[in-house]
Amino acid sequence: MKCACALTDCVFNKICFVFTYSTQQCHLYVETNANQWPIVYSDDYNIGFLGLERLHPFDSGKWGKVFQHLKEAKMVNEDSVVVPREATQEDLLVVHTSDYLDSLRWSANVAMICEVPPVALLPNFIVQRKVLKPMRIQTGGSILAAKLAVERGWAINIGGGFHHCSGSKGGGFCAYADITLAIKFLFKHIDVVSKAMIIDLDAHQGNGHEADFDKDEQVFIMDVYNAYIYPRDMKVKSAIKKNIELWHGTDDKTYLPLLRKHIPEALDNFKPDIIAYNAGTDVLEGDPLGNLSITPQGIIERDQIVFQEARKRNIPIFMLTSGGYQRRTARIIADSILNLQKEGLISCNYSDSGPRGNRCKSDNKQTTYNTFHHNL
Ligand SMILES: [Zn+2]
Repeated sequence: MKCACALTDCVFNKICFVFTYSTQQCHLYVETNANQWPIVYSDDYNIGFLGLERLHPFDSGKWGKVFQHLKEAKMVNEDSVVVPREATQEDLLVVHTSDYLDSLRWSANVAMICEVPPVALLPNFIVQRKVLKPMRIQTGGSILAAKLAVERGWAINIGGGFHHCSGSKGGGFCAYADITLAIKFLFKHIDVVSKAMIIDLDAHQGNGHEADFDKDEQVFIMDVYNAYIYPRDMKVKSAIKKNIELWHGTDDKTYLPLLRKHIPEALDNFKPDIIAYNAGTDVLEGDPLGNLSITPQGIIERDQIVFQEARKRNIPIFMLTSGGYQRRTARIIADSILNLQKEGLISCNYSDSGPRGNRCKSDNKQTTYNTFHHNL
């Protein structure tokens, strides 16, 4: 593994440290090199088959479009992003019940979760290959992004954010509980992480992770959502420690000051070791499901606020793209990521990464890396 900086730099300006993690028990934690961005993406994220995807308002190719925009801007290419592995049955069982995973063998159940009724008519092997497998790869991507954030200070999965799915129930286009899984994997494998904050800014209530982490003192959930749309899940609202409910049509002038006030407050009070940022873009004006009125510039400012607050406190953050149902959202997500780069909030350099060694709790087969950072 090559070092990200010149040795002389390291000797005079930086402190070198070594961190290790288990590759035997964390097969989703794939190795990366210093030339790669902690941006996770695979072409296999994209769902598209027989034209049925057009029956859902969700742009099921948006992940590929985000990547294409970033590539056109010369930020990344196929070699400089990190390609995740598919989450296996064994990985999924860390959070999911076997009954729930078995239920996905019924196409009718998957059709309900994806809200595309004709999917019920397809043989399950096609549903597995064309719908569920991309979601399992995105889930592997979220788990990987969480680990990359600990190493690099930040990471973005250009997918994931299935916040309506809990360990025992799917819904709202979410078949796997990737947020819960990403956090549980950190708790299990990385001993510098014992407190996590979920900042869920998708337009909908994140009732999946809320069901999973209800009464869990290790996890602080902040949820900012339109309270008058799906899922209106009252049973799990008690899991939200910072609950901010929005009215239909909330605009930038109301929304952004709320974030500027509550995010720093929550971070200073809870002091998490990691932030899972669910950055749904269905808050965008004109979205028929989110029913809010945030402008494209408002979304870019929103993401900037979250990253600024995380980075200045040196708290690792991983972002998931989650909901966002309009054709123009891919462009906005890419613009927002480019803005984070322009503002110096993200970079490819290890030297700009957070000072968090990655020490695994169960190192049966260890991989050793050298990394460097300023001002430990
Ligand atoms: Zn949503």
